[in-house]
Amino acid sequence: MHEVVNNKRGPSKKPFVFYAIIAMLVIMLLNALVFPSMLKRSVIEVGYDQFLEMIDNDQVKQVSYDSYSGQFVFIAGDENSEMIYKTGIWPEDGQRLLQQLMEHEDIQFSATIPTQTSPLLSFILTWILPILFFFLIGEIGYRWMRKRMNDQLPGGMSNAMSFGKSGAKIYVADAKTGVTFDNVAGQDEAKESLVEVVDYLHDPKKYAAIGAKLPKGVLLVGPPGTGKTLLAKAVAGEADVPFFSISGSEFVEMFVGMGAAKVRDLFKQANEKAPCIVFIDEIDAIGQKRNTGGIGGNDEREQTLNQLLAEMDGFDGQKGVVLLAATNRPESLDPALLRPGRFDRRVPVELPDLQGRKAILTVHAKDIKVAPDINWDVIARATAGASGAELANIINEAALRAVREGRKAVVQADLEESVETVIAGAQRKNAVISDQEKKIVAYHEIGHALVAAKQSHSAPVTKITIVPRTSGALGYTMQVDEGEHMLMSRTELLNKIATLTGGRSAEELIFGEDNMTTGASNDIEQATKLARAMITRYGMTKEFDMVALETVQNQYLGGDASLACAADTASKIDERVVAIVKAAHEKARKILQENESQLHKLATHLLEQETITGEEFMALLHE
Ligand code: ADP
Ligand code: ZN
Repeated sequence: MHEVVNNKRGPSKKPFVFYAIIAMLVIMLLNALVFPSMLKRSVIEVGYDQFLEMIDNDQVKQVSYDSYSGQFVFIAGDENSEMIYKTGIWPEDGQRLLQQLMEHEDIQFSATIPTQTSPLLSFILTWILPILFFFLIGEIGYRWMRKRMNDQLPGGMSNAMSFGKSGAKIYVADAKTGVTFDNVAGQDEAKESLVEVVDYLHDPKKYAAIGAKLPKGVLLVGPPGTGKTLLAKAVAGEADVPFFSISGSEFVEMFVGMGAAKVRDLFKQANEKAPCIVFIDEIDAIGQKRNTGGIGGNDEREQTLNQLLAEMDGFDGQKGVVLLAATNRPESLDPALLRPGRFDRRVPVELPDLQGRKAILTVHAKDIKVAPDINWDVIARATAGASGAELANIINEAALRAVREGRKAVVQADLEESVETVIAGAQRKNAVISDQEKKIVAYHEIGHALVAAKQSHSAPVTKITIVPRTSGALGYTMQVDEGEHMLMSRTELLNKIATLTGGRSAEELIFGEDNMTTGASNDIEQATKLARAMITRYGMTKEFDMVALETVQNQYLGGDASLACAADTASKIDERVVAIVKAAHEKARKILQENESQLHKLATHLLEQETITGEEFMALLHE
C-alpha cells in the first residue's frame, strides 16, 4: 500500500529517446529522399553542344568548373530569367574551351556557383521544417499518452468518477448510505479528534462567525490496514460532504510537471465542491523530506510537494475544504508539511487492542450469517497484533470456509481455522513429511510448551500443533496472553527467551546434540532480537544501565533499529547478547531434564493427535 514511487522516474526518460529517434529518422529521410531531388531540379543539365552555342550567343554570364564531377556549371539567360546549367565536356576539349571562354570578356570565371535556389529556402527545408515536424509528432504522442494514462487511472467507474487531470476520485457519500463512524470500530480516540472536523464541515459559518480557524490539514498516522481510509470516508459520510480521494503515488507521474498540475487541478475541483474532504493516501510518496543540496534529487516529487504546499497556503480555510492525509512513516515527511496552517494536527490510528479487535470483529460479523453461540472473546484474544484489515479478512475467510463445508452459518471452528489461515498460513494436511521428522517436530513444540508452562510468568499455552502450515512452519505453539500486555518485566522477557530456546533444547535432550535440526531458526532470530533489545533499548543490564544504544528509526514498520554506539561497545553488547541467550538455553535444558517423563508423555500424545488444546496439555501435565 505504501510503496514509494521513486522508480517511476525511470520511464520519464523514455519519451526523450523516443523523440530523438523520430527526429533523426525524419532528418535522414528528408536528406536522403526529398532534398537532393529538390536541389537537382534547380539545375538544368544541357549537352556540350548547347553549352558552346550559348557561349556563342552571349547568353553565358558566369562559369565554374567542378573538378570532382568533371563538369562545368554555369549561369545563363537574360536579365530576368537566369538559370543554372550543368554540362559535361570531353577532357581533350578542356584547353580549347578555356581559350574560348577567355575570348568572351563578359563571361565571369568564378570558383563556385551556388547550386541551391535560395539559401533561406534551403535553411528552412533542412532545419526548420524537420524541427517543427518532430515537435508536432512529440506533442501528439504526449497528448495521446496522457489521455491513455488518465483512462487507466483507477476509479473511472461506478460511483467513483475520474475527475479531469487530477485523477482524484470523488465519492459523494451521504450519511444514510455511505460510511459513518459506526462502521469504524475501536478507534475511539481517533474518532473523538475527528468529531470537531465533522461539526465544522456541517456548518463552517458557525466557526467563521467567531473567527475560529480549524486546521486545514489532519494527518492520520498509523500502520497499514488500521482503517485510516475508512476514517476519512466516515468523516465525509458523517458530515454529508463530497469526498475526494487520491493516493500520493498517483501524483508522481511519468511526465515532469504532471504532478504539480494534478495538485492544482485537485484543489480547483475541491474549491468548487466545498465544503468537502480531500483525502491523500500515502502522502509520504510525495511528502518526503526534500533534498537540501546534493545530487540526484527527485525534481518531479519536489515540484509536486511545493505545489501542494502552495495550494495549502493559498486556499481559504473558512470555505470548508478539509485535507486529510494518511501515512505510516510520519518521520519521513518534510517538516514544511507539518508547519502550522498545513498538516498541523496529527491523529494516531493505532493497531486495535483486545476490546478494539472484538468490536471490529463484531462490526464485520454483521455482514455475514453467524451461529448464535460464537465466543468473540476467544477470537479477539487469539489475534493480538492483527490490524483491522486482517480481522476483516478473518471474518471473510471464515464465511468462505463455512460455505465450503456446506454450512448455513459461520461457527466457532470456522473462525478459529481462519485465524490460523490469515495469521499463520493455511494448513497443509497432505504434505509429505516423514515419521522421524514428525517426531522431532512434536518434541520441539512440546519443548516450547513445557518450558513455558513451568515458568510462572509465561503465558499459558492454548494450542500446539504439528500440522504443517503453508508458511513453511512445520508446527507451532500458540501462546495467548491473558490480557493486553503492554509492559513486559525483565523476568517475563527472560522467560520468553527461555521458552524460545525450549524447542531446540528438547531436540538436544531427546535426539542428542549431533541431531539438532534447522527447525529452530525462527526461534533463534526472535530470542536474539529480544535479548538485544533488553540491552540496547530497555536498559535491563547492569553494565549498560539506562543508556540507549540503539535508535528506533520507524516505530510503525517493524521498528528498524540502528546501533548508536562505539564499535568497542558494540562488541561488548554482542557478548552480553550471547550470555543472555546462553543462560536462557541452559535454563530451558534444565527444566526439560527435570521433566523428561512428562516431555515424553506429551510428545507421544501430540504425535497421535497432531493437534492438542491448551486444556488438554494442562490436564496431561498435571495428571
Ligand atoms: P488503511 O487506510 O489504514 O491502510 P483501510 O482504511 O484501507 O486501512 O482499511 C482496510 C479495511 O480494513 C477497511 O476497509 C475495513 O474493512 C477494515 N478495517 C480496518 N480498520 C477497521 C476498523 N477500525 N473498523 C472496521 N473495519 C476496519
Ligand atoms: Zn520452535
